[in-house]
Amino acid sequence: MVNTIVLGLALRLHGAKLWWRDDDATRDTPALRQLLDLSATTKIPLLLAVIPKLMDDSLVTLVRQYPLVRVVQHGVIHHNNAPQGHKKQELVADFDSTLLIKEKQRLKDAFGAQFRPILVPPWNRIDDELVKQLPDLGFNAWSAYAHQETDFPLARRDCAADPICWGINDSRPFRGSYRTTATIIRALLQGWKHIGILTHHQDMDEQTWSYIRCLLRNLNQYYVDPDQVFHILKR
Ligand SMILES: [Zn+2]
Repeated sequence: MVNTIVLGLALRLHGAKLWWRDDDATRDTPALRQLLDLSATTKIPLLLAVIPKLMDDSLVTLVRQYPLVRVVQHGVIHHNNAPQGHKKQELVADFDSTLLIKEKQRLKDAFGAQFRPILVPPWNRIDDELVKQLPDLGFNAWSAYAHQETDFPLARRDCAADPICWGINDSRPFRGSYRTTATIIRALLQGWKHIGILTHHQDMDEQTWSYIRCLLRNLNQYYVDPDQVFHILKR
């Protein structure tokens, strides 16, 4: 379903690597187990964005069994604070930033050495002024979607490909093999050197799982550890 030989050659030609991020983890579910098993069997490290205020102990117990998982912070409670008619956003201009610090500590306490001080804003949106505050709030980096990497005001490493076609209502169909692969190729042509693949374990249908399995298993030599992508410093 994906011509992984051609895609692999294209990655090699451009000197680019893939890395993997999954969003919206809160608890132990069959879908999350499927995802973590995929990371373990392919030996591909995974950046797992956890919603701190919605997580429970079952998530902590499960994730600790998978040393290749690096936990990062997915906002606070994934609540939409945007005015009506605007795109969904939790981290708006007047968001109480002390909540980010408090919930970061909760993740650090729960996941210990598996935690990384990286922020993944829910819906991949965050107010520009809040971004400037992130270093003072104790974050080393952040990650959203579709923007090229930058190190100002702090490291930003986005995902470039999302196999889900997010519907207007609650539909979550597969974007399709051709269209998803095309987003990877487009990133390559734009000069991306670290191409993030974004998954949502709770929202993927069987076609999406099948595509992702293929992308991980057949191209696993092209994936790098997110720690390399984000150049993590200890805080
Ligand atoms: Zn999310």
